[in-house]
Amino acid sequence: MITLALSKGRIFDDSLPLLRAAGIEVLEDPEKSRKLIIGTTRPDVRVVLVRASDVPTYVQHGGADLGVAGLDVLLEHSAGDSSDSGNAGLYRPLDLQIARCRMSVAVREDFDYASAVQQGSRLRVATKYTHIARQHFASKGVHVDLIKLYGSMELAPLTGLADAIVDLVSTGSTLKANHLVEVEHVMDISARLVVNPAALKLKRLALRPVIEAFERAIAQPAAGVPA
Ligand code: ATP
Ligand code: MG
Repeated sequence: MITLALSKGRIFDDSLPLLRAAGIEVLEDPEKSRKLIIGTTRPDVRVVLVRASDVPTYVQHGGADLGVAGLDVLLEHSAGDSSDSGNAGLYRPLDLQIARCRMSVAVREDFDYASAVQQGSRLRVATKYTHIARQHFASKGVHVDLIKLYGSMELAPLTGLADAIVDLVSTGSTLKANHLVEVEHVMDISARLVVNPAALKLKRLALRPVIEAFERAIAQPAAGVPA
């Protein structure tokens, strides 16, 4: 049995066409069913639904053989990994080029970010992505006090909790609706396929074709999208 870890929402939705290209159809809609384990048209392949940030943990410890997780999640996960090699237990993240967005620094539209940085005063930054944010500001020599949040980052500058946020942005409409503007691009983000190395050895015959189908599917433009 091959177990694939996915999170509900955009990772699941964007993974479906890749799975389909691999000849795998999931048998249930996770938005309608309460099941956490979903069968597929391939009797030897099942999908487990986990929190987005739990995907690396499942794959690392063998609760799933492979999984799809955002680069944001992988980078934050490896930061909390006590092993020296960071993403130990995760084999070769393959860029699936789905769930694409960017990590950005955003502030209130009336906040003068450039002069705040220039003055060298400590910037209060609220984010869910403390590791990525710490690295980013350290590389720019900007002193920050990081405030860890788990959601609704946009609220932080509006309430005076923070001067800036580091968050994922795709269209920018959420920022705009909250009178925030992007002032720095931190990195581009997309989802990656991660594989448990032990599973790759033990189940190589079963896993290789699935991984290769993912690789072929990425190389092709998404169905329905004109090239
Ligand atoms: P949870 O809901 O468990 O707290 P989450 O909010 O990170 O986790 P999702 O919102 O489903 O979960 O996001 C899953 C992944 O999709 C993220 O890790 C990121 O890589 C990507 N993603 C998040 N926000 C966006 C966005 N606005 N546009 C495109 N991709 C995004
Ligand atoms: Mg979410």
